[in-house]
Formats: sequence, structure tokens, C-alpha cells
Amino acid sequence: MPTELRRCSRCVLPETHETITFDDAGVCNICRQQEHKREAIDWPARKRELDALIEAHRGKGDYDCLIPFSGGKDSTFTVLYLVREYGIKPLLVRFDHGFLRPGVQEGTIRTCRELGVDLHVFTPNWKVVRKLMLQSLLEKGDFCWHCHTGIFAYPMWVAVEKQVPLILWGEPSAEYTAYFSYDQPEAVDEKRFNRYVNLGINAEDMLVRLEGAVDERDLKPFTYPPLKELRRIGYRSVCLGSYIPWDVKRQYARIRDELGWRGDEVENVPPGYEYEKIECFFQGVRDYIKFIKRGYARTSHLTSLDIRNGRLDRDEAMRLVAAYEGRRPPSLDVFLDYLGLTEEEFLEIAMRQAVSPYRHDPAARGGCPAPHDFDRWPRCGAMPREETEAMLARWRAGRRD
Ligand SMILES: [Zn+2]
Repeated sequence: MPTELRRCSRCVLPETHETITFDDAGVCNICRQQEHKREAIDWPARKRELDALIEAHRGKGDYDCLIPFSGGKDSTFTVLYLVREYGIKPLLVRFDHGFLRPGVQEGTIRTCRELGVDLHVFTPNWKVVRKLMLQSLLEKGDFCWHCHTGIFAYPMWVAVEKQVPLILWGEPSAEYTAYFSYDQPEAVDEKRFNRYVNLGINAEDMLVRLEGAVDERDLKPFTYPPLKELRRIGYRSVCLGSYIPWDVKRQYARIRDELGWRGDEVENVPPGYEYEKIECFFQGVRDYIKFIKRGYARTSHLTSLDIRNGRLDRDEAMRLVAAYEGRRPPSLDVFLDYLGLTEEEFLEIAMRQAVSPYRHDPAARGGCPAPHDFDRWPRCGAMPREETEAMLARWRAGRRD
């Protein structure tokens, strides 16, 4: 029997969502925060703050600002908005996590050409990446440590090296969780990195855990630059969404119409959300792990955003959740190959991270269809099974049961 989770009476987020609390009406704190965003924030004043921030940095160096860029909807909108609204010269910095989908690569070329911007791409050593993936999966049930840390740390190194003090991210995390609120523009800094991004594992921890299998220098792209160096350039790292109200569906329509940006299908996500998280071909695995741990995944999250924006009713959201969430994604086969894991080992690792009261039953759900570009994902670079076994053995030996 699937576990029945308590869900918010307004949206469909369940009790296993990080940072969630419910008030006497059964409404979650994320829903309440959204009311606050709509009603209590003086958006015209925030926009004037942004104007001032941009003018203070314009023309001071080789670039007016740095924009961390994945090629997904949020970073693409951020570039479009800043270039069209302010006519500034940004440097786009992409940390390539290794799983970029073909459609995103094509969209990036269109965006950069249409807007006339420079793009800097960094792709870390794959042999290091796959070790980091397995280690963070073992420890936290989340294989994306290299991606979380690289996406937030690497652009900061580029900012230091190229002396670009203004770093503009897209979406503030107050959209999703209660770690941050909308009261203050959210600083995307080391404190946030340690609290929210690196899963509680810093690069020194990682170095110790991998016991000499990687070099300290290999981990530099995943490490936050020293504060002293960031202060020396007078850095300011903030989200565009702290200054203008973030409305994903409207922004998607705009990048589609003005840049030809295209959405894509994502495993276990219903039609109508094709703009979401299309930049990684392991999004389906990530969502599947979340379901195994917490009994919900992306459909709950996406439909909840639409409920809060008045675009969907709750019954329809629950129907979509029941139909789409938690099916086994075909991307899991690619993932298991990369890391040299069996499916039994994968389930053992993920189910150890279960968040009470959810208890996953692997037999309860079937599979979902493969996305159209499945055969174009690279399959090379699998971890040798001996290496996987050595890491598994170390993990089993070190674990406190
Ligand atoms: Zn809610």
C-alpha cells in the first residue's frame, strides 16, 4: 500500500517537502509566502534598486555583469531581460554538468547569436565527476553534488579572474522553499552555498571521503572562492527574481516568441510543463530518487506553482500527481551504466534516505516512456565495476547502522 501523505489544503505539497509547515487552516508556509510576494512587496521600488545596481556597474570592466547560464528557461530569460531592458554587456558562464540535452545545446546557440553575447563554458573532468556523483549518492541519496556546487561556485571563480563584480542569477529560492523569504534580496553567497547548495558536504570533506582518488586541484571548480578574493573585486551576487516578480509561464512565452527557445519532454512530467528542467537528461532520475525518498516529485511541485498562480484547481493537480509521479524512468538505465551500479544497489542506497512517514514500494509503479532524444545521450565513460565496488565497500564499512 502506498503511504498516504498529508498535503497542503491549498497546493499539493506533502509533509515530506523540505522546510514545510502547515498552519491551522492546513495551508503550507510556501503558499503563505506567495501571498506575501504578491501583496507586500513594493515591486516598483525593487525595480528601481535594480536600475541603480546596473548603472553602478555599467562600463567599469570588460563586462557589465556575469550571468551563470544553463540554457534553461530561467537563465535564458535572465539574459534576454537584462540585454533587452538595459542594453548591457554580460558574460555568460556555463558549468557543464555532463548531462546537457541536445535541445538545450541548440537553444544556447540560438540565444547567444540572437542576443549577441559572449559565452564561457567549463566542462570538468568526467572521471572526477563520476566519483563525486557516486559518493554524494551514497552519502546523501543525491548524485548532483558536483552540479549543485559547480553551478554556484565555478562562475564565482570566473568573476574573480575576470574581475566582474556583479553576478546576476535568475530565480530566487524563495519561490520554492522557506529557506529564504522575499523580504530581502537573496544574496547568492557562500553562506547560502553552505546552507542550501552543497548538501552539507564541502570540498575538503569530499577529498577525505574519496581517499586520494582525486586531487585537491580537481575539486577547485566545486569550491567557493575565498571571501577575501570576492571582496577584493567588490562582488555583488543576487537574483533577478528578487527585483522583478518571477512568473515562469509568462517568461517562457517571452523566450519562446523572442528567441525561438523550445521546451522539451521530461520523464514523468505532464504535458504543459515542457519548459521545466529540460537542461539535464538525468532530471528523470533525480525526480525518481526524490519520489523514492519523499513520496512526491516534480508534478506536485509544478502543479502547486500553478495552483498558487490561480491557473489550476487542486483536484486536477491531484489527478496529474497520481498519473505521472514515481514511474521508473528509462534514464535510470543510462545512470546505472555510468556509475557501474545494479538497480538493487541503487534502490538500497535511495531507500535508506526515506523521509518519514513515506515508505517506498518499488513494485507499486510501472515505467514511463523514453524521451524522444534518449538515443542521442552519450553512453561513453562508464565507471569500471571494480571502482564502484571499492566505493560501495567503503560506504558499507563506514556506515553506522
Ligand atoms: Zn501549499
